Amino acid sequence: MSAPARDRNRRYLVTVGPLGLPDEPQDVHLAVSSWNTRWTGWVHGQAICGRTTAQGELDDGATVTCEDCENLRPDYERILGGDPPELTAAEARTEVDRLGLALYRAQDALAFVGECCDIADREGRPITTAQVREWLKGAQCARQAGLVVEVPDTPA
Ligand SMILES: [Zn+2]
Repeated sequence: MSAPARDRNRRYLVTVGPLGLPDEPQDVHLAVSSWNTRWTGWVHGQAICGRTTAQGELDDGATVTCEDCENLRPDYERILGGDPPELTAAEARTEVDRLGLALYRAQDALAFVGECCDIADREGRPITTAQVREWLKGAQCARQAGLVVEVPDTPA
């Protein structure tokens, strides 16, 4: 088959032709092609739009005329994209910052739940699972929802 430098462990989106039947719209579709070890060749299933197609890939230059296939193409390309692209050092640092912020928020939320439990315990109030779920959203969310009322320290 015409498949130069393809990775046999991956799947590829390929252009395929219609069935040569009189009633069948003669559209060019997209299908997912994978290496078949038994046939030692690239084989594709039905078109991603669901139509049955003729086996065999069209040339790379073939234009997809099926609208449904074109609409589905971005999703399939993303899924079949394989390994995520490599990051630059700057992008990696940005990702570390993002993860650090997420970690900080998670730790903050846990600390907040702890505080709320302490307060409830001091006041002898029972704690419900629903409350804990709300508290886990973090201090700000809970305050905005009116679940936590700031009690100013009363001067003695
Ligand atoms: Zn199609």
